[in-house]
Amino acid sequence: MGVELIRGDNFVTARLADVVNWARKSSLWPFPFGTACCGIEMMSTLASRYDMARFGAEAVRFSPRQADLLIVAGTICNKMAPVLKRIYDQMSQPKWVIAMGACASCGGIFDNYTVVQGIDQIIPVDMYVPGCPPSPQALMYSFTKIQGLVQSGQGLSLDPMPEAVPSVPV
Ligand code: SF4
Repeated sequence: MGVELIRGDNFVTARLADVVNWARKSSLWPFPFGTACCGIEMMSTLASRYDMARFGAEAVRFSPRQADLLIVAGTICNKMAPVLKRIYDQMSQPKWVIAMGACASCGGIFDNYTVVQGIDQIIPVDMYVPGCPPSPQALMYSFTKIQGLVQSGQGLSLDPMPEAVPSVPV
């Protein structure tokens, strides 16, 4: 973090970006986008047994403008794709995205024309969580990896915004 401690005077110096990122990583506000069974595991992760609040992410928001971490948990059908894209677009910058489970990551077992074969066809994804469904521990692990991205100032939302893939009716 580039911290310098000077004895006697007791002050530290650091780059402003490092301090901001340190604060950001410990105060992520998730937007839970649960559409199917994975959503239940996500709820469990946020609830008292696993308690994501311990990582500073207890302020779950259902307004995209107040959220900076989108957790997509479940199957995304083509009709839902424009909704997901709009929610992502409305979120504040910088923002990060977790694709939780096989369905969000690649369509899962639903290899058919009605289901989006991975949300990265619509929006950038920073972290994929394998499993059907992933355990709460897996989601928490991915969250800590996202925190690492935040601290290092990385994230796909910081890159130029990708255009929607034409094959998906967005
Ligand atoms: S990955 Fe499995 S558990 Fe998750 S939404 Fe798809 S079918 Fe359900």
